[in-house]
Amino acid sequence: TVVTRFAPSPTGFLHIGGARTALYNWLYAKHTGGKFLLRIEDTDRERSTPEAVEAIFDGLNWLGLTADDEPTFQFARRDRHAEVAQQLLDAGKAYYCYCTPEELTAMREKARAEGRPMKYDGTWRDRDPSEAPGGVKPVVRLKAPQDGDAVINDQVQGEVRVANEQLDDYVILRGDGTPTYMLSVVVDDHDMGVTNVIRGDDHLTNAFRQKALYDAMGWDVPTFAHIPLIHGPDGAKLSKRHGALGVDSYRDEMGFLPEAVNNYLLRLGWGHGDDEVISQEQAIEWFDIKDVGKGAARFDFAKLTNLNGIYMRQADDKRLVDEISQRVAAIIGTDAIDAAQKEILINGMSGLKERAKTLIELAESSAFYVTDGVLSVNEKAQSLIDSAPEGLFAELANSLEALESWTEENVDACVRATAEKLDLKLGKVAQPLRAVLTGSNSSPGIFEVMIVLGKEQTLKRIRHFDA
Ligand code: GLU
Repeated sequence: TVVTRFAPSPTGFLHIGGARTALYNWLYAKHTGGKFLLRIEDTDRERSTPEAVEAIFDGLNWLGLTADDEPTFQFARRDRHAEVAQQLLDAGKAYYCYCTPEELTAMREKARAEGRPMKYDGTWRDRDPSEAPGGVKPVVRLKAPQDGDAVINDQVQGEVRVANEQLDDYVILRGDGTPTYMLSVVVDDHDMGVTNVIRGDDHLTNAFRQKALYDAMGWDVPTFAHIPLIHGPDGAKLSKRHGALGVDSYRDEMGFLPEAVNNYLLRLGWGHGDDEVISQEQAIEWFDIKDVGKGAARFDFAKLTNLNGIYMRQADDKRLVDEISQRVAAIIGTDAIDAAQKEILINGMSGLKERAKTLIELAESSAFYVTDGVLSVNEKAQSLIDSAPEGLFAELANSLEALESWTEENVDACVRATAEKLDLKLGKVAQPLRAVLTGSNSSPGIFEVMIVLGKEQTLKRIRHFDA
């Protein structure tokens, strides 16, 4: 069975490109009935932090991309990595290299002068360690093949090859005995039983080198799929300005729903005909890694925002209220909203969610319903109030107060009758009415608003402006 993995380095937040890599690994595992594993590549001790590990767990949980097993921590496995290096040494497939820093610098400079990438020249490949100079702590290098081509049948890139001559005997164990990234990745993927390595195409050249290590150990090489990186809308590498932010920003600062983010990331590099809105079940059924495009995907905030609007309209009202309640509380200046306020928001949700594309917008447009103090009134609403026909609010309040039963039908009829009585067009009445009830010049339908607010609150707000 298929085993995939997501192998982030915990050196920052879980960024949006990483989330897409995780999603593709997760989906491919689900699609094939396999397993999705998580490995924290925390071998860079200086840059790896517990906060970053938490951010990865948190982001993956939020997106629902949970692993089918406990996570593996790479640093904890360093003895195992060193053990494999020793096996390669014993088998004559790796060797100690005693080059001094000066010798390596000379190699680097020669390469630069000749305008080619640095390549280790194999000084110690066949040399007897008894010739080793004193005082140099040797590194261990893989004895990589020198002839022929390294070929990878990549599920996304197709057949890719490179002449082995281009690759060198790279370091697998440092002078201090610690494993290099290249060694750790291969040993971990092998030990975790990973069958499919799905990751960003910035790792494609590593794949050739890693293949040499699998071959040296006589291990099965996993199937690789190197997915194109995400670019900004202008085609340049994704930067902060473009949305190369932590997944937590998409949740907390931008107010997106996780299913919208997943759907958007899914479509970023993969498609199913013209389908834009794809449920998780459909995605699992349809997703195949070989259908991922080779071209760089372009990140488009407008598309993500639209998709989020669609998911918000489909979302359960109670859930939406839970999602926005903290924000609404902050807007109206309380610590938390109470059960009664929550009820009002739930009642208002169907009208509110039609008009908002993010949870931020939704919270902002909902707050008027539950504010207990003075309604905050925007500039346009204020001018509607200021220019309201003389006596309008008193007339409205009196006729609405006389209503026996507070239904949408009745308030509708009552407002229309008031307009007729004052010889005003409905809009001339409805607009100032909206302004005093919501503090804004745009809101859900005014009769709906009156029902959700209730009679008492409606009258209170109208009377407040009837000065
Ligand atoms: N830790 C690597 C990264 O975050 C991924 C390595 C891999 O997927 O093989 O870029």
